Amino acid sequence: MNQREKDISLQNKRTPSPSAKVSLEDYASVVGRTEIDELRSLTAPLAGKSVRMVNSTAIGGGVAEILDSLIPLLGDLELQARWDVITGGEDFFKVTKSFHNALHGSEYSPRREHFDVFMEATEQNRKGREFHEDFVVIHDPQPVGMVLSRNGKGNHWIWRCHIDVSDPHPEVWSFLEQFVRRYDAALFSSPSFLRKLEIPQHLFCPTIDPLAEKNRELAPQQVRQILERFNIDPERPIITQVSRFDRLKDPVGVVRAFQQVKKSAPHCQLVLAGGSATDDPEAESVLREVEEAAAGDKDIHILNLSPSSHLEINAIQRGSTLIVQKSLKEGFGLTIAEALWKKKPVVASDVGGIPLQVIHQSTGLLVHSVEETAAQISYLLSHPEAARRLGERGHDHVKYNFLITNKIKNYIKLFLSLEENDRRHSSGKLAANLQRSTELTMDSANPESAMVPVRVRPRGTKSRMGRASSLGPNRPS
Ligand code: UDP
Repeated sequence: MNQREKDISLQNKRTPSPSAKVSLEDYASVVGRTEIDELRSLTAPLAGKSVRMVNSTAIGGGVAEILDSLIPLLGDLELQARWDVITGGEDFFKVTKSFHNALHGSEYSPRREHFDVFMEATEQNRKGREFHEDFVVIHDPQPVGMVLSRNGKGNHWIWRCHIDVSDPHPEVWSFLEQFVRRYDAALFSSPSFLRKLEIPQHLFCPTIDPLAEKNRELAPQQVRQILERFNIDPERPIITQVSRFDRLKDPVGVVRAFQQVKKSAPHCQLVLAGGSATDDPEAESVLREVEEAAAGDKDIHILNLSPSSHLEINAIQRGSTLIVQKSLKEGFGLTIAEALWKKKPVVASDVGGIPLQVIHQSTGLLVHSVEETAAQISYLLSHPEAARRLGERGHDHVKYNFLITNKIKNYIKLFLSLEENDRRHSSGKLAANLQRSTELTMDSANPESAMVPVRVRPRGTKSRMGRASSLGPNRPS
């Protein structure tokens, strides 16, 4: 089987097998022994509990990237963790892509049939699936309707939203909200994404795996060989954006910025390393737009990579002089955390979850237009010492906030708080029942006087928009 065939076979798998071969112990060398010991003792009360994560693609995009590392590490902590991918036809993924763009604020006129297509695929995916796990975590809008299979078994359902829903299309959001409100909690990547919801909301930052093929250390010789394999000259400055070919990543804007930079730095090269995801049907047309904008410039390397090109992306990021992420909308942008971890200076748009990672002039440079992108790239190319300092600070920022061990800790804390909530709720009910029997004897003419169970929220959470438990990043002082 060649690599493409392997990718296709993986894409068609309903239950992907994560690729990680490392164990939690291996992370002690990165985050310290204490951190790992703390993680183990924190998780001990949950030993044997089951967790199921559900998303819509086994490869391609940030969510698959995260689950690939997270699932085996949860297993290492003695949780029974599994990963499940919903399936759908072309029509379903076209609709969900339109929803995705509309939630990011793009123009969209939804039609009745679109919602019907969504519901049909939801029903198809619910057939034959039962959710007995203690914790069910559903990622993003595509599988949000799986919550209709919630059957009052007393398990916990969590919706993890990775996209920027700060200004969503009202009709699309209200359609999705009918499902979201059935969950026990919703997780968002940035405070600005919190919605007015009656369920608790938590800030939950995406993270990278420092030991994964995508991020592990590479020998300079290996980096060089991989660059040369793509005809990229390691001796000349390399500006890179790694992203799926998606209009919201603005690859054409990156080409325009590069064309301006080239006027004063004619030796530099641009690498647009991309690919597609199974749940994204627009990649091919965007790739054509990018090729057209590049107009045959030999210094613009447009690489349409297979979704499993982790080593290649690692080498390209490590071999780059600087990394750009010129997204128009961005839930978080794992590619930025990946670049900062590799101590690369980053120029990125001031949108969505990006400012959580790129703190202007501290861990990178934020931009608002093609012109600013070009100006900041030119500045960094001509000020290598400033560029180096940004990369160093960026690395520390990722180390303390955006590594997979942080994510595990946040999930464990969330699971514990949901369980604690249950305990308090049931002891509240017990107390209520005791009180009720006494009250009913004392005042049987007025059964309304019996205590009504009060809904208890997890510690540190609030129901109002803009207030949530802070599982978000630590900012450098
Ligand atoms: N990625 C990849 N191949 C590509 C493009 C992206 O492996 O051709 C990876 C990238 O390294 C990152 C993830 O996919 O780990 C993208 O996550 P991000 O949050 O940046 O964007 P998303 O695609 O989820 O919108």
